[in-house]
Amino acid sequence: MLSERLENLHPYVPGEQPKDRIYIKLNANENPFPPSKNVAKAIKKSVSCHREKLRLYPDPDSVELRTAIADMLNSTGGVLCNSQSAKKELGFKITPQMIFCGNGSDEVLSFVFYTFFGSRCPLVLPEFTYSFYPVYCGFYNIQMKKIPLKNDWGLDIDKMLSESEKNNSPIIFANPNAPTGIALKRAEVESFLKKIPSDRILVVDEAYADFGEESCLSLLKDYKNLVIVRTFSKSFSLAGMRLGFSVANPELINSIFTVKNSFNHFPVDFLAQTAGKAACENYSYYEENAKKIVNERNLLTEFLRSKNWFVIESKTNFIFAKKNGMGGTSIYEAVKKAGILIRHFDTPGIDDFVRITIGTKNQMDRLKKVLAEI
Ligand SMILES: *Cc1c(COP(=O)(O)O)cnc(C)c1O
Repeated sequence: MLSERLENLHPYVPGEQPKDRIYIKLNANENPFPPSKNVAKAIKKSVSCHREKLRLYPDPDSVELRTAIADMLNSTGGVLCNSQSAKKELGFKITPQMIFCGNGSDEVLSFVFYTFFGSRCPLVLPEFTYSFYPVYCGFYNIQMKKIPLKNDWGLDIDKMLSESEKNNSPIIFANPNAPTGIALKRAEVESFLKKIPSDRILVVDEAYADFGEESCLSLLKDYKNLVIVRTFSKSFSLAGMRLGFSVANPELINSIFTVKNSFNHFPVDFLAQTAGKAACENYSYYEENAKKIVNERNLLTEFLRSKNWFVIESKTNFIFAKKNGMGGTSIYEAVKKAGILIRHFDTPGIDDFVRITIGTKNQMDRLKKVLAEI
């Protein structure tokens, strides 16, 4: 009855979204702040004044949204919490033709996998990274070559390079990586790109770059084999809207369009296009929020270290931490009893860690109280 393809599917398990009680949700790296008011206004206006629009199919190419994203990236440099210096470093103009939008960056990644990773050679990726990558490899029947992290939990770029040499394999990693929160410097990514041939694809998933120090967007000027993937779910408070995009040279973007148009012509609905555009136009609101989150992240890191936790230096909106003598599950359970949800992993190697999303100051104060007592 079922197709043989089902055997290769190992679905992703997201952070829980319980309905039984109201928890402080620090388990899915969602943004604790609501989207800006102009997003709600734009949505309201489009359903009341432009009601006709819902009768019609949306713009399949999201032209206005892609223009707004390009403007936002050119204005911020692609790092919201640090946009003054990021902007200076961009060094060229990102055009709408360099942008592809999808229904969440998960879908963008799905199109990117289909476009660039095939059965000719394995895909090189870190052992611990965003756990959707192996799911797509199963879905598209792509072989994987997983590279262990270094002892300091950072990406082993030398090993990724030498593995990718063997079969001219494409490479994907998240930067900053998840769930560790560690970021490679842009200079390190550039030296990696210098060492690979210009026809070998490198995909860098920058879901968390807005909370870090640098973005690799400026490298797109010189490297036509680089694909950057970003999302509105984290720094732009729109996880519920499902909106993500990739940035690359226009030829690669055209190839992703070919895949999209062979699968779902209209992935981004009219309301999501409207919301995303409004969010980009009001990026300074999200800059302020990103700065607050980074401040709370640094305070939580200091606090936990003072309580003898091991906390990895994070460049994201979450921290990855462990407490000697306690497993990830038992920390998770103790915190859950107090009404706070965090994430733990059953995967051997990281099962003593928890991943905690950074929330508002009030939420972090509550959390600190609970963690101090366990
Ligand atoms: C959250 C996340 C995504 C997915 O984001 P959506 O746009 O909500 O699908 C992609 N990559 C990484 C590394 C993430 O953490």
